[in-house]
Amino acid sequence: MMTGEQYVASIKKMRPNVYKWGKLIEDVTTHPATRLHVQSVKRSYDLSFDPEKAPVYTSKSPLTGETVHRWNSLMQSADDVMGNSNMKREQYHQSGTCQGATCAGWTAMNVLWDATWQMDKDLGTNYHERVKKFWKYMEDNGVAMSGAITDAKGNRSQRPSQQKNKDSNLHVTEIRPDGIVIRGYKCQICGVAAAHEIVVTPGSGYGEADKDFCVACAVPRDAKGLTIVETRRPSDARDEEEGWDAPKAGNITQTFLIFDDVFVPTERVFMCGEFKYTGKLLMNFTAIYRAAIGACVAGQGDIMIGAAINMARANGLSMRPFQEKLNQMAINNEITYGLGLGSMMRGKKQPSGLFVPDSLLAHANKTQVAKLPYETKVLAQDISGGIAETGCFPSWADVQSPLYGKHILEALTAGADGETRARAARLVEWLTVGGGIPGCMHGGGSPDGARLVVRAFTPWEQYAAEAKRIAGIAAELAEPVPVKK
Ligand SMILES: Cc1cc2nc3c(=O)[nH]c(=O)nc-3n(C[C@H](O)[C@H](O)[C@H](O)COP(=O)(O)OP(=O)(O)OC[C@H]3O[C@@H](n4cnc5c(N)ncnc54)[C@H](O)[C@@H]3O)c2cc1C
Repeated sequence: MMTGEQYVASIKKMRPNVYKWGKLIEDVTTHPATRLHVQSVKRSYDLSFDPEKAPVYTSKSPLTGETVHRWNSLMQSADDVMGNSNMKREQYHQSGTCQGATCAGWTAMNVLWDATWQMDKDLGTNYHERVKKFWKYMEDNGVAMSGAITDAKGNRSQRPSQQKNKDSNLHVTEIRPDGIVIRGYKCQICGVAAAHEIVVTPGSGYGEADKDFCVACAVPRDAKGLTIVETRRPSDARDEEEGWDAPKAGNITQTFLIFDDVFVPTERVFMCGEFKYTGKLLMNFTAIYRAAIGACVAGQGDIMIGAAINMARANGLSMRPFQEKLNQMAINNEITYGLGLGSMMRGKKQPSGLFVPDSLLAHANKTQVAKLPYETKVLAQDISGGIAETGCFPSWADVQSPLYGKHILEALTAGADGETRARAARLVEWLTVGGGIPGCMHGGGSPDGARLVVRAFTPWEQYAAEAKRIAGIAAELAEPVPVKK
């Protein structure tokens, strides 16, 4: 395992290829747009050595028996996938927000374990051996990985092979004896600036016509031909601000990836054209990811509860008048966390060894993740007052004014001094309308996609038959045949 310091040093050594505002970021570990994300991932490395937190941040490798960072481990049991959830909730308690570099890439490698096992069994390929070797490298080096699943896509009503510009989806352009060449765009990818590796998988389940787009591999973040554009807004880069404008938060990073004929050596290629295996790969990914994402938003919800309590007190009020609202916030958090755990309890170990949560429950969870955290944000703002909504109090720089700074502090003073109240308000603002918001709606896929899975996996006819029996109905009650107009 790596210490936080070793992790930062290893990221610092990488070739600069991340851009923002048209300029190259020379060092992602110090640049204001990326530094806080690197720092928050560093914390997870450090906590791997903390006696109290180590059980959350580490796991035992089933491959070597060694203790490894949890985000490098193979998930083989309900306990392992719950470990994923619990680490995420805890990470939000540390930084208030998401830690992309220890999340999607880890899940992607886990589902590639299963897909490559199946491919090797059916097709006689040697992908699984490559995944095993890569896994050893991951464990031995304590690698941080982001996961690039989402393509730019182009026109949403057309398949990848039908797009005007083939680059809208990442694809293979050349197969060489020693590797493959890939090009195209992956978008909205979290945590790349703080990662050593990017794990790439197809963005959807595909058929034969879209064979070229069925590519999975691991690409170093600083690979030749890969350009990365950081997309977070400067107002979200808290590090650029000072005083009470900058909470001690983690800051997410998001990127567009431009693969311009990137060469990937054979040992890092885990799928190349095997379209039949893309559907299950994606189903397994979403089952693991959407089960755990309930813990992410619950973790942030916990901080929203704390921030709202602090605001009430800074306003001079007790928790009491707000207890019902605070209760509802806690209930929302436990619903998404618990639904995720439920899907893990009902999951199954695959013949490959991978443990996959129950899809129906995981996708039902995603629909709630796209809803309940927003209600929690509304309640946090409701309790806090207008000062926490958005931009309703002066900047830190204004407080320094010899002309009016003193008056601002006086005007802000309520149940607590002006600075304390401003800091409490800033955190609520950041969590509810600012850069701290994780991808509740579309992160991990759109809620409509999740609804489709709920529709497909719910046994409608079984329920109708059971209800008929209980009602004592003997007559046939079939679906009416649609009338053609
Ligand atoms: C904060 C955040 C973090 C993220 N992190 C990552 C990451 O680390 N890795 C990664 O790979 N991705 C990541 N994503 C991307 C995420 O997976 C996508 O945003 C998500 O899959 C939705 O895709 P989209 O944004 O292209 O929306 P779209 O696909 O454009 O969807 C927009 C709407 O149109 C609907 N729709 C789309 N296509 C159709 C159709 N054919 N017919 C009918 N309706 C349709 C959708 O259901 C949705 O309601 C992240 C996103 C966010 C917001």
